Amino acid sequence: MRIYLSRPDITEKEIEAVCEVLRSPSLSLGPKVREFEEAFAKYISRKRAVAVNSGTSGLFLCMLALGLGPGDEVITTPFTFIASATSIMMAGATPVFVDIDPESLNIDAAKIESKITDRTKAILPVEVFGNPAGIDKVCEIAKKHNLVVIEDSCEALGSTLSGKKVGTFGTMSVFAFYPNKQITTGEGGMVLTDDDDLADMCVSLRNQGRDKTGGWLDHERLGYNFRLSDINCALGIAQLSRIEQILAKRRQVAKWYQQILADDDRLIVPAEPDDCDMGWFVFVLRLADRFTLEQRDVILQKMKEQGIQVSNYFPPAHLQPFMVERFGYSKGSFPVTESVCKSTIALPFYNNLTKDEVAIVCKTLKEILDKI
Ligand SMILES: *Cc1c(COP(=O)(O)O)cnc(C)c1O
Repeated sequence: MRIYLSRPDITEKEIEAVCEVLRSPSLSLGPKVREFEEAFAKYISRKRAVAVNSGTSGLFLCMLALGLGPGDEVITTPFTFIASATSIMMAGATPVFVDIDPESLNIDAAKIESKITDRTKAILPVEVFGNPAGIDKVCEIAKKHNLVVIEDSCEALGSTLSGKKVGTFGTMSVFAFYPNKQITTGEGGMVLTDDDDLADMCVSLRNQGRDKTGGWLDHERLGYNFRLSDINCALGIAQLSRIEQILAKRRQVAKWYQQILADDDRLIVPAEPDDCDMGWFVFVLRLADRFTLEQRDVILQKMKEQGIQVSNYFPPAHLQPFMVERFGYSKGSFPVTESVCKSTIALPFYNNLTKDEVAIVCKTLKEILDKI
């Protein structure tokens, strides 16, 4: 590959921070966990933050802490990374998909009410690609129907809507720190809430069901090992301390792409919605409607042949083989999602992507499009 889809941005500061932990006696359950949690809670402006070993574990713990399980339905979007839906299923609850808004690509709030039943307990919206548009409307509907909101903010660190940070909308919210996210801990995630009981439950569940006072071999409830080590947390603290710089770099890369690709009528270029600040996660173009799925896949293939790593974020969650088998979805179940999914091209996008590299990506794409 000449240009990768994603690269982490690790400076000497991160390396030093990790080495410091390695020289200490506390590799896990030490002081860096609390320090990362406190810094993160402060950044998002929430009372509690609970560090876990992945975003997926975090979402799953939200389900358990809220008591969601067999017989309960959770409304979510089929246009997302699969963990949004599988975390619901891991708890034994049923994901109920609602189609997306063709502009924001987030769950279409106007279509939610028709899917609410007696069994509906929660809504799990995703700020997909970092776009927070519509999350406020989802919360209004949830409030009206007395439903809990579990906010999957795993792609949206640093985004705001009307000045309000993403991660403050849900009763519980989750971020993730895989290396392609805005900040990374290698692997990791964070659950946020203002409710001490929910936070305490997550603390217990991530640590083998131990309670606050109990000893190492005292298990209050069925728990898991979803702990995040002090090594990971030290990396997270250093990354979070650079968050403004990181978001500015990502914003700059997005701007370069927008400037070069803006006036090409073959492409729909992502833009920051009104009243939003985007913490850019990825840069995902869409091809104009006249292009087919087959043409999109040829474009992806040819980009890769030119050494430029691209991806098809996301194929429809409801058409993944295990979902079809379990719930009987078929093509046409969610037409807006399916029409968006056949048109997406995720371009290389990371903090230190240079202006020249952006130009090479755009030139290569345009040359391929000229020949399609
Ligand atoms: C990244 C991501 C997650 C969590 O991913 P992990 O790899 O488990 O940290 C969850 N939901 C969405 C939408 C994501 O993009």
